[in-house]
Amino acid sequence: DLVIEGLCKRFGAVDVVRHVDLTVPDGKLVCFLGPSGCGKTTLLRMISGLEIPTSGRISMAGADLTDVPANKRDFGMVFQSLALFPHMSVAGNVAYPLRLRGTGKSKQAQRVSDLLQLIQLPHMAQSPVSKLSGGQRQRVAIARALASDPKMLLLDEPLSALDAKLREAMQVEIRLLQQRLGITTIMVTHDQREAMTMADVIVVMHQGRIAQIGSPLEVYRNPVNEFVADFIGLGN
Ligand code: ATP
Repeated sequence: DLVIEGLCKRFGAVDVVRHVDLTVPDGKLVCFLGPSGCGKTTLLRMISGLEIPTSGRISMAGADLTDVPANKRDFGMVFQSLALFPHMSVAGNVAYPLRLRGTGKSKQAQRVSDLLQLIQLPHMAQSPVSKLSGGQRQRVAIARALASDPKMLLLDEPLSALDAKLREAMQVEIRLLQQRLGITTIMVTHDQREAMTMADVIVVMHQGRIAQIGSPLEVYRNPVNEFVADFIGLGN
């Protein structure tokens, strides 16, 4: 499990993440859900190692990760702005993390081929990513994040650039992939429906703190306070 204890982040005089305690169970998909500015991205960035906590501790399977740099944490990441290399082919993008690690050519090719099967784009290996649709790019970004067989997948609003219909399709697709691989996944979203559809566990955040942790049904049926009730309320 990933264990977060007393995690805080302060920017200048502003406490953006305030004493967060959280356990992310192995193999589960956990959503950080909350309104803009509640600190969910900052929390994810601290888990990824891209942001240094002001105080607190992050560990995984008992090993302290707090001071381990991002590139040594062995987590796969996908952000809203995918940051694929537009001039490179699909295969080139997916192989990129393997190239960085100095993985042998034939092993790279095998892994890329497996991943393109997994995301159902084997026929597009040589297409430049600039020719792909939004959903296809999304899948390539996920395949690239999975290339080095990470311990965990971190997704920051990965679907927010897609139109509603495609987003729903991708929600199902990502969830199925996550379950098939059994990979522990944290996803940041401000979309309560998305969290309800995809998550095993929803972490509702409010002003830098965790307001509630529970299954989608728990937070929906038994919100702990008015904020959670309003935010989760699906009537809107
Ligand atoms: P959004 O969905 O809008 O990204 P969020 O819940 O993910 O919201 P964060 O991105 O974590 O929230 O930001 C929380 C607060 O911290 C915001 O008020 C933001 O302006 C502030 N913040 C984030 N990064 C920095 C930074 N590097 N320096 C100063 N303030 C920052």
